[in-house]
Amino acid sequence: MKWLACELHTHTVHSDGKQTLLELALGAKRLGFDCIALTDHNTMSGLQGKEEVEKETGIAVLPGMEWTTFYGHMVTVGLETFVDWRKAEPNTIHASVAGVHEQGGVAGLAHPFRIGTPVCTGCFWEFNIRDWNDFDYIEVWSTTFAPVKQDNQRAFALWTKLLNEGVRIAATSGRDWHRHEETEDPLSVTYLGLREEESASIQESAVNALKEGRVAVTIGPLVTMEVCSEAGEAAYGLGAAVPAGHPDKKECYTSRVRVSFSVREGMWQLPAQSYRLVVNGSEGGLAEMSIGAEDNHYEIGLGSSEKRPVWIRAELWGNVRGVHALIAFTNAIYFDREAGYE
Ligand SMILES: [Zn+2]
Ligand SMILES: [Zn+2]
Repeated sequence: MKWLACELHTHTVHSDGKQTLLELALGAKRLGFDCIALTDHNTMSGLQGKEEVEKETGIAVLPGMEWTTFYGHMVTVGLETFVDWRKAEPNTIHASVAGVHEQGGVAGLAHPFRIGTPVCTGCFWEFNIRDWNDFDYIEVWSTTFAPVKQDNQRAFALWTKLLNEGVRIAATSGRDWHRHEETEDPLSVTYLGLREEESASIQESAVNALKEGRVAVTIGPLVTMEVCSEAGEAAYGLGAAVPAGHPDKKECYTSRVRVSFSVREGMWQLPAQSYRLVVNGSEGGLAEMSIGAEDNHYEIGLGSSEKRPVWIRAELWGNVRGVHALIAFTNAIYFDREAGYE
């Protein structure tokens, strides 16, 4: 699996940003990103000249748009054509999302708990969602030094609650990047897992990764995970579902967590410390260990829990600027259940 460092929420002068697409892509390159999604407010005109910018910078530009409405902001990525955001009303958002999917795009909630009107018009999510499975992702980390911000913690808790309810939905970060300014704040990266055999374009592969939850989010090291069956013959990666086993057969699984501190070398810094690596899930914390700051992988037995989890994810915790914080997390790996299986 190839992991692409992405910044999925950006703006240019075509909406309220203070940078051109070229300036944005050059800035992303300086920060060690591979890919950005341009998500201007209600316009896609900033994508003009995209191919030249990609050629000049080596940064892949995903076409996108931030639907900016009175009832919430919704980021869409991977569409070539414009879906009319003006039709989105509190009770019709599902039809709008279907329109995005028809065009081959994905839709996610942008900063759902940011303070809304009158401070930031429509920034707080108020659309009525009847089925969360219709949405592809939630931007759980917004802006810089994201893990310590209260609105992000609410979004992360919403994501966890939905996973517990059996919803399969991805979680991402987005800087909501408007202008170039030096910041000491840690920046978040959304890593998208590209299947090696995919010969499709980066755009197609990145959209598939978002759709299928091959996603890991971090302010530093890249943490990924897969679940292996006892015999080791099958492995299930982020976003995948481990098939239901036979009710009478005891099953044992191992999670293999990879932590890479060498990603985007020199672009981020964390104080020297031992980190806490946790495998968390619907049944609570399943495993926990202390790890050092080197590239490594860890085999963590999940046991043969009587109660099979609905989902699991890996989390890396540590100290950041004097605060104990979530530094990185994977998206979920799911466990299918058969009827009658508990
Ligand atoms: Zn917004
Ligand atoms: Zn925005």
